[in-house]
Amino acid sequence: MAGDETSTDFGFERVRLAEKQDRVNEVFRSVAKRYDLMNDLMSGGLHRAWKSAFVSSVRPSRTRPFRLLDVAGGTGDIAFRTLQAGGPDTKVTVLDINEAMLGVGRERAGHRYGSRIDFVAGNAESLPLPSDTFDAYTIAFGIRNVPRIENALAEAHRVLKVGGRFLCLEFSHVDVPGLDKIYEAYSFKVIPRIGAMVAGDKESYQYLVESIRRFPTPGSFSRMIEQAGFGHVTHRPLSGGICAIHSGWKLA
Ligand code: SAM
Repeated sequence: MAGDETSTDFGFERVRLAEKQDRVNEVFRSVAKRYDLMNDLMSGGLHRAWKSAFVSSVRPSRTRPFRLLDVAGGTGDIAFRTLQAGGPDTKVTVLDINEAMLGVGRERAGHRYGSRIDFVAGNAESLPLPSDTFDAYTIAFGIRNVPRIENALAEAHRVLKVGGRFLCLEFSHVDVPGLDKIYEAYSFKVIPRIGAMVAGDKESYQYLVESIRRFPTPGSFSRMIEQAGFGHVTHRPLSGGICAIHSGWKLA
């Protein structure tokens, strides 16, 4: 994340800020059709447990209207889990910049949820949505890919109602001795190979593991969330720090 204002990390490469989004879009256009299968293979199914733990934090109301915005929502995992956990007045907007990922999400949703779900193409950095609208904002494995994270956090704050909650699930930093070495070897030696074999795209999965290493530590990311105006900011590690759930509240 370090560097001047016009360049940023794309994995271990330095690229112009303006170029990063195009490169990220190419990654997800390329992997969209195999994205869900790859998640199961790479994580041994663990991503399902992380997403379930994440949605337990969202706590959609079963009795009252509840509006969730799931940004970088891709193929819909967080939206579907939230709709299953919530009541009939729980509604989810899935927003993603990538039509290929949204297309898979729409197909998976089919007609199951009717008007309780909608899919919107848009950029996390400038949401095409009104202010003070949502009870919760989620972003799962998405914020790492956004070129200007501060802009995305500011937009999250804008679209939430006062009293609304920001929740982010993201890869984090393993801090369990022993696990860190195994995780490092698995990430760099195994994941790109699975990407090559299953998705026919080694580079995209090389980007994935490199981008995880470049993401800020939980402490620095918490400070960024606070700087965007959120209060009661916390983070909770999952699976020894492979992932973390970050939370903040719009208090005013
Ligand atoms: N949230 C889903 C999940 O947990 O399975 C998908 C996560 S996927 C790793 C990252 C998603 O972020 C992709 O669908 C990508 O298109 C989206 N994305 C990247 N940059 C974005 C941006 N600036 N605004 C909105 N979505 C973005």
